[in-house]
Amino acid sequence: MKTKKIICNLTLLLLLVSCSAKKPTMEININEFAREDLFDVNLKEEKKYEYEQELNIIDDNYRNYYEIFVGSFQDSNGDGMGDLQGIIQKLDYLQELGITGLWLMPINPSPSYHKYDITDYYDIDKAYGSLDDFKELLSEAKKRSINIIMDLVINHSSNSHPWFTAAVNALSKNDLTNKYISYYNFEKNPTKDKYYNYGMPTGWYYEGWFSSNMPDLNMDSEELLKEIQNIVKFWLEMGVSGFRIDAAMHIYRANNDKNNAFFKWFMDYAKTINENVYVVAEVWSDTNTVLEYYKSSMNSVFNYPFAGAGGYIGRTILSQEFTGNEYIEKLTEYKAKIKANNPEGIDAMFLSNHDNPRSANGFRQNIYTIKFAAATYLLTPGTPFIYYGEEIGMISSGSLDEDYRGPMYWDSDLTKLCKGPALMHEQEFFFPALSKQIKQNNSIYATYKRALRIRNENPEIARGTMTYIENKTDELGIYKITHEDSSVYIIQNFGYKPVSISKNDLGFTYDEVRGYLVATGENIVISKDKIVFPAFSTLILK
Ligand code: CA
Repeated sequence: MKTKKIICNLTLLLLLVSCSAKKPTMEININEFAREDLFDVNLKEEKKYEYEQELNIIDDNYRNYYEIFVGSFQDSNGDGMGDLQGIIQKLDYLQELGITGLWLMPINPSPSYHKYDITDYYDIDKAYGSLDDFKELLSEAKKRSINIIMDLVINHSSNSHPWFTAAVNALSKNDLTNKYISYYNFEKNPTKDKYYNYGMPTGWYYEGWFSSNMPDLNMDSEELLKEIQNIVKFWLEMGVSGFRIDAAMHIYRANNDKNNAFFKWFMDYAKTINENVYVVAEVWSDTNTVLEYYKSSMNSVFNYPFAGAGGYIGRTILSQEFTGNEYIEKLTEYKAKIKANNPEGIDAMFLSNHDNPRSANGFRQNIYTIKFAAATYLLTPGTPFIYYGEEIGMISSGSLDEDYRGPMYWDSDLTKLCKGPALMHEQEFFFPALSKQIKQNNSIYATYKRALRIRNENPEIARGTMTYIENKTDELGIYKITHEDSSVYIIQNFGYKPVSISKNDLGFTYDEVRGYLVATGENIVISKDKIVFPAFSTLILK
């Protein structure tokens, strides 16, 4: 059998690696800030990667997503503003990285730079291009097996949306029959503290939770619900694969049951247009609340509890509040609770997004912790979301939202980049531009590309059920992921120095190595009886 032969060869290779490999010794200093000079030291050892497998990409909703703020990604026409044609120029790059899905932040017409206040749900903002550009992007992405989901901002519209201006105009004339009045929450005598109320000259007030520019929409309006269906139908029929739902828990404020009923209705309708639609919701809240929204039948809810330096990933890797063992147990429990609330639910892990300082800020600008943080969330079941620039360790300078949405650092020649939002502070770059990292075997970019490649080679990882495997070494997190009849085993050293484990203590046996990721560039040494893990390393077995 061909398969057997491969396994034998791999075993032989393993022994060879273990005989010649030096034992890892390096200890990581968490307070060591990795400037460009350290980055180069780290990259000196340019080893060839072993254990490359064949790609096995399955066309379903388990994908490797990449979030793009379009205005800061790639400019195609020289005006400094990123645009849809710019994304088309970078599709080959994204495919090469291993990306199989894109989340585009809002692209509909909007008066703001961020475009979360929409004035037309059926068009593309002129700064980004046209509907024809978008159709071309969908078609070019499809050629590369990349799905596109778009931000759907339906908690509120812009106060310049014609629906809102028509409603306000009608109210000012005391014409209460205008249908657009029902689209929003207008009140003459607002209850104190019930809403963020914005008064209007006519004596009416309206709800606008986020700002006066963003009047909340009223999902109790039958007319509006028909409009929502039209919007969903319009984009799904054009070829988008689904939506990222902005501010999902604010539709009916602090009423999870009503929100879930709304999203159940939403999903039921969306599935009549595309039965494979993919919807991921922003519920920026605690563990119980996030998990609650899986009951709606939406595919995914962003995994805020584990995200970033302040979530469980950072609390384990940085502050060591939890051991690797405890972390994996906690994560396994979280994933099981998703399935309890929705057997089809797909965890959506991420490190950071457009609303927070970039993850490399939180991970102390240390190259090893940044790489290991990537290895943790990218090798677990679900659909991970990478924020553009995260794959090269971009940081954000300043504390404005604009600073979190800076230009993608393609090249150290800043004239080749987008300008970024007008109010953005000047951005610093601790790690080299993509043009440099792409040539290096051990860069942050290489870690992301390798982790995504491992996902794309081993479909079990995204789709399988995670089982925690208890072990006696605190630093090691060990888990099994089983999909259909196949299991992969992942072992990670969350510690700052090398640790070893006897093969007898693994709790399982394996036939082959499927891959590895080592933040320090040292070797994982597999000998007859034991395995020695460098600090912040990951081994994938089968
Ligand atoms: Ca442009």
